[in-house]
Amino acid sequence: MSLDDIKDQIKKAELMNNRPIGSVNLIAVSKVQPIERVENVLRKGHRSFGENRVQEAYKKWPAWKEEFSKVVLHLLGPLQTNKVKEVLALFDVVHSLDREKLARVFSENIQKQGFSPEFFIQVNTGEEDQKAGISPNMADEFINQCKKVYGLPIVGLMCIPPINEEPALHFALLKKIAERNGLKRLSMGMSSDFLSAITFGSTDVRIGSAIFGKRT
Ligand SMILES: *Cc1c(COP(=O)(O)O)cnc(C)c1O
Repeated sequence: MSLDDIKDQIKKAELMNNRPIGSVNLIAVSKVQPIERVENVLRKGHRSFGENRVQEAYKKWPAWKEEFSKVVLHLLGPLQTNKVKEVLALFDVVHSLDREKLARVFSENIQKQGFSPEFFIQVNTGEEDQKAGISPNMADEFINQCKKVYGLPIVGLMCIPPINEEPALHFALLKKIAERNGLKRLSMGMSSDFLSAITFGSTDVRIGSAIFGKRT
């Protein structure tokens, strides 16, 4: 597959689900991909990219952000509070906000610098021990706290369904939590399940291997 194929499939899914064309944002997940593959996609004019690790992103994106204008960089991976300053200096959107301490440190640093990335709160919909994300039964309280106590611009929710479960159940749960909290955006859907995610209202699909090829 390629960038154009994926964009085509997204457009068809938008039509089929009565969604406006262009309402689903395609985040091209460039983690551990060879430089040339990512540059090809940049040269085609695509500007929305996702990375999992702060350190890896710093090796590539400062130069690409200089060379290509209007890049929007999304942080998708779990995050430690000692990385917050670096995150704020490079990323435009954070998808992995999942605990109070992180919210507090972001809030303090954002107040100092005077501008903020957009945030998705990650929900651990499968309640997996090894996975990041707030547990679903704590989500309402945490969303409220992020908005009211820490003043963070929370735009939506993000989830990564468990590997061996039907993702649709998790997409439906995420949508339900977002709706009852008045959040409009849903970061859900990867290479294997983005069409299903769009059916459940995804606004931000995160696609890596289907665009760039298998990660080595
Ligand atoms: C790697 C990754 C993706 C992309 O996965 P693919 O299966 O290659 O599309 C999406 N979201 C997150 C959080 C990831 O870590």
